[in-house]
Amino acid sequence: VTALLWLRRDLRLHDLPALLAAHEAGGDVLPVFVADPTLLASAGPVRRAHLSAALHAAQESYDGALVVREGRPEDVIPPLAHEVGAASVHVSRETTPYGRRRDRRVERTLGDVPLVATGTPYAVGPGLVHKDDGTPFQVFTPFSRAWREHGWPAPAPVPAGVRWRRGVESAAPPGGDDVAVVPTGEEAARERWEEFLDDGLAHYDETRDRPDLDATSQMSVHLKYGAIHPRTMLADVAAHPAGTSPGAERFVAELCWREFYADVLWHRPDSAWTDLRQDLRGMAYADPANAGHVRAWEEGRTGFPFVDAGMRQLLAEGWMHNRVRMVVASFLVKDLHVWWPHGARFFLEHLRDGDIASNNHGWQWVAGTGTDAAPYFRVFNPVTQGEKFDPDGEYVRRYVPELAHVPGAAVHQPWRVPDGLAHGYPERIVDHGAERAEALRRYEAARG
Ligand code: FAD
Repeated sequence: VTALLWLRRDLRLHDLPALLAAHEAGGDVLPVFVADPTLLASAGPVRRAHLSAALHAAQESYDGALVVREGRPEDVIPPLAHEVGAASVHVSRETTPYGRRRDRRVERTLGDVPLVATGTPYAVGPGLVHKDDGTPFQVFTPFSRAWREHGWPAPAPVPAGVRWRRGVESAAPPGGDDVAVVPTGEEAARERWEEFLDDGLAHYDETRDRPDLDATSQMSVHLKYGAIHPRTMLADVAAHPAGTSPGAERFVAELCWREFYADVLWHRPDSAWTDLRQDLRGMAYADPANAGHVRAWEEGRTGFPFVDAGMRQLLAEGWMHNRVRMVVASFLVKDLHVWWPHGARFFLEHLRDGDIASNNHGWQWVAGTGTDAAPYFRVFNPVTQGEKFDPDGEYVRRYVPELAHVPGAAVHQPWRVPDGLAHGYPERIVDHGAERAEALRRYEAARG
């Protein structure tokens, strides 16, 4: 017999309970990845290139046995199961709205062949942690307490003696355009992770907000494709000499944010694209299609150096530092008055770590519309944020070559420097003080 192992966000061998389950079914295992046009349609070049690289790396992990097919999963998985005579199809349980609908469609089309879900991409599966009265948490801190108390099993071993099913036709992984990617795959993830454990973990709490330093783990792309499981990371943190340091505490809390947002999305699938909070649903927003300003934001030409550096980092690398994500998101929502889903969609197109739960709830947090969000009236100042978190201006100069000649922190206000705008850097597209006041006016009006 053959068991299909349908990989989605879990391109790895280690700590993969679904692989154990497929192996324990007793026969050959055929790993398969389906390039789903619905998901690929929204991916820009950097994101596609990372998917392609992740699949090539997985091909190595799976000793060349991974089969790639293209099409709607409900049109691909059942015929493939039939073609190889599979008795079961194994997956990690998917908890996003699209993933849940897709899996129901595939399950229906599979008929008698069971779709067996084992594990999830989270240390604690979404939906498992709740208040004493059984209702979901709305706020992060009590969730994180209950999440730690719930705990998680030890990492799953790689099963010995798996027999891969061979000789099944495979398509080439979808083309990665000619774009630079960070090293991906299980081995690269492990290498980066060990580097961070030894060099970054102990001081993470002090340095994590500094985009000019390479101080965060950069593990988000590996978590996205599942090159490593967060349970493995949590076990490694606990076993590390710095495992009880404030840095480690803070790092575990950040991993917990990822789990919290997945939990919110599980309970409230509508929160992917609509305001969680009712009371801001009447806000007046600008139409992004009409605003030249929105193009300037997308292209990193707002005239605010910290914002523009972030957007250019996003376009070039498919990644942006968390502090800068907050600042650019605030700028779109509160300086340009654009509803957050426009920005969320743009991020998902470009981010190599694009994740519907973390991204869309991160946007709702900044926009003040989410559970446990920043209050709407807290508006980030793009200049002082830059001066505080990029104190020597290194980050800005790295991504904005037109400002390379402006020294130190002065780069955050180039309009005050003689010749600051001499090399083509644009004037500010808005007056931040005026737009802040306008945002607050709209907020008061929405609240009646
Ligand atoms: P580290 O600081 O090293 O953190 C370790 C891990 O913890 C991250 O890899 C991530 O899995 C998790 N994490 C850290 N911060 C957060 C957070 N605020 N929310 C949820 N998880 C977190 N993260 C994504 O993975 N995908 C996204 O699409 C995404 N979009 C975002 C959009 C906005 C507007 C904002 C404000 C944040 C977004 N984040 C997103 C969260 C955060 O910015 C990234 O996870 C982080 O920058 C990734 O870099 P890192 O791996 O070096 O993080």
